[in-house]
Amino acid sequence: VISEEPPQAVRIVREPKVYLVGRQSVSEAEVDRFLAEEGTTWQTDTERGAERLCESAGRLCYMSFGKGRKTNADYLGHIIESGHGSVLEHATWNFVFAGISRSLTHELIRHRAGFAYSQLSQRYVDESTADYIEPDIIANDPELHALWLEAVTTCQDVYRRLVSGLADRLKEIPEATTRRKMARQAARSVLPNACETKIFVTANARAIRHFVELRGSEHADIEIRALAVKVLTVMQAEAPNLFGDYELRPHADGVPVVWTAHRKV
Ligand SMILES: Cc1cc2nc3c(=O)[nH]c(=O)nc-3n(C[C@H](O)[C@H](O)[C@H](O)COP(=O)(O)OP(=O)(O)OC[C@H]3O[C@@H](n4cnc5c(N)ncnc54)[C@H](O)[C@@H]3O)c2cc1C
Repeated sequence: VISEEPPQAVRIVREPKVYLVGRQSVSEAEVDRFLAEEGTTWQTDTERGAERLCESAGRLCYMSFGKGRKTNADYLGHIIESGHGSVLEHATWNFVFAGISRSLTHELIRHRAGFAYSQLSQRYVDESTADYIEPDIIANDPELHALWLEAVTTCQDVYRRLVSGLADRLKEIPEATTRRKMARQAARSVLPNACETKIFVTANARAIRHFVELRGSEHADIEIRALAVKVLTVMQAEAPNLFGDYELRPHADGVPVVWTAHRKV
């Protein structure tokens, strides 16, 4: 297939984006109804739904409402120290991650327990003008950057030519959506790992902690470590009593590593 158009300049992305799009709220009336029917009362000092829900789930185990540790931070701190991680599964958030590569999401979706995913489809969505994620170590070297750009530009150009050639071959198919899907699903075979993607992710606090620990480690790929660090930063602001035990420590490659004394609760 001969392209009539010159290859288009590709857009390069260097940083993951994290959008926290959903969080839980507590139905206070139902909590109060339960407590009243059990003849007990309970007050806590956090307004954050996820933290209130985890504390109430933990307290239900021993019906310790109104007893023992006074603050939510103390209560959840003890849960984390003692490794009672199943209590943290009651806290759930929804995220959109964007500006990340297909190679990153291939690693991300290996996290199964406590995660749900919905990812941009390369069968339905046209990738002719996709963005591409360039690793810093390549971007910082002019010669390697030129080589990388040449490869990515070529892949994108070939993708566009394949889509157009396939559309021609498939013109007998009356349904436009089916025709486009068939063309794109075949043409995507030449798209590189660097291709940008977007993914909707739902995860609970225990699963997020495990993800942040494994992917925030110095052994993790730098791109997913940068994402893990962003997720952790967002979560420390969102639910400090569930994520406050983590520290970010500097690393020679410029992306910090994540540390905690309480791994895999
Ligand atoms: C630095 C690094 C390098 C890696 N290299 C490779 C590689 O070369 N090749 C490769 O294939 N993968 C690799 N992985 C991915 C790794 O093997 C895991 O698949 C990934 O980290 C998901 O973690 P997880 O298994 O703890 O699963 P999660 O789904 O995050 O589960 C959390 C925990 O739940 C429990 N759990 C989850 N599912 C089950 C189950 N089905 N049965 C029993 N218990 C379960 C386990 O205790 C598990 O640790 C790498 C990961 C890292 C961090």
